[in-house]
Amino acid sequence: MTDHLKGFATRAIHHAYDPLQNEGALTPPLHLTSTFAFESAEAGGEMFAGERAGHIYSRISNPTLDLLERRIALLEGAEAGLALASGMGSITAALWTLLSPGDEIIVDKTLYGCTFAYMHHGLSKFGITVTHVDLTEPDNLIPVISGKTRVVYFETPANPNMRLVDIAAVSKIAHEAGATVVVDNTYATPYLTRPIELGADLVLHSATKYLGGHGDVVAGLIAGRAEQVQEIRLVGMKDMTGAVMAPFNAMLILRGLKTLALRMDRHCASAQPVAEWLEAHPAVGEVYFPGLTSFAQHDLARQQMAKPGAMIAFELKGGLEAGRNMMNRLQMIGRAVSLGDAETLIQHPATMTHSTYTPEERAAHGITDGLIRLSVGLEDIEDILADLDQALSGVPASMAA
Ligand SMILES: *Cc1c(COP(=O)(O)O)cnc(C)c1O
Repeated sequence: MTDHLKGFATRAIHHAYDPLQNEGALTPPLHLTSTFAFESAEAGGEMFAGERAGHIYSRISNPTLDLLERRIALLEGAEAGLALASGMGSITAALWTLLSPGDEIIVDKTLYGCTFAYMHHGLSKFGITVTHVDLTEPDNLIPVISGKTRVVYFETPANPNMRLVDIAAVSKIAHEAGATVVVDNTYATPYLTRPIELGADLVLHSATKYLGGHGDVVAGLIAGRAEQVQEIRLVGMKDMTGAVMAPFNAMLILRGLKTLALRMDRHCASAQPVAEWLEAHPAVGEVYFPGLTSFAQHDLARQQMAKPGAMIAFELKGGLEAGRNMMNRLQMIGRAVSLGDAETLIQHPATMTHSTYTPEERAAHGITDGLIRLSVGLEDIEDILADLDQALSGVPASMAA
């Protein structure tokens, strides 16, 4: 296998699959089986003892998932991958494996809403300390991190307000303290950022988003060192969450990966002009997009992301009411959560994805009531801009003031 010499798109299409080993089937077979027959009683016992390779039961491994796991590992520059039922399945399986009572996890100030809820309503109930640090400034870690810190966890760009974290700088400080660095790479995808190459230990994904790319599946992925991923498979996934991915869903994600590079190029090519258009619009206040020169972390974006991605957050000058008004006037752009789909989607974090935070928590974590999140899709750019234009022109002048 000379796959490491090939380009990203080629690897996403071909890695680890040979049609001639599979009856000539161009598309990998879908292994719809819950269990696997053992050649002999002894062979089964050896597999359970970890002395013989092979599949036992689909809550542990399955050949269709195995192919997807090899592909995400290669694309992330990791030794091994793991497929799970959802993004939350990957987050919970990883952290239930890595953390024990008495440990501390340091997390960035901004987290996806359900991740925030899991930390504060889940982990903290079991004697694990969850400490928020503003990781946009890596040095903020230094006075807080200690021998009790087992994990440093963040998203970059963060959902929903687009804050970036310098993966290399944070990893260096975390490793000096002996902590494991876990990055939720859902927004960037390995096409734009590969955290492990920058020093992170474990990468998590909601594959529901760009990796699947078509809004037809909920799925999660993990990539990291073989030993750590195996532990998450056998503890966090197999026993603690049972959050196993269905083989059919693995097939959908494998299909999505084939066009990831193509789709990301188009998503990114459209998002830049949309962000610039929004920034120039009189009704729009702040626009948060890594590709804008006005973006506070524009330099870090250029250093850490191959392209600025296609997620945009913005505020209307008229605040929440103006935002609702605009969202209700949209004709093509979908009022929906999730992101990374072919369809352009818009949502209001404070009342939707991040309603898991209390108003006080949102204020403390930089998620304002007027913030709107836009996932720029694959439609013609003229149509995306035209829909935004007609919706914003309907925002009453007093609100646009
Ligand atoms: C959607 C999302 C998740 C959760 O993933 P699911 O597949 O919905 O469980 C986690 N992190 C981020 C950044 C997300 O956008």
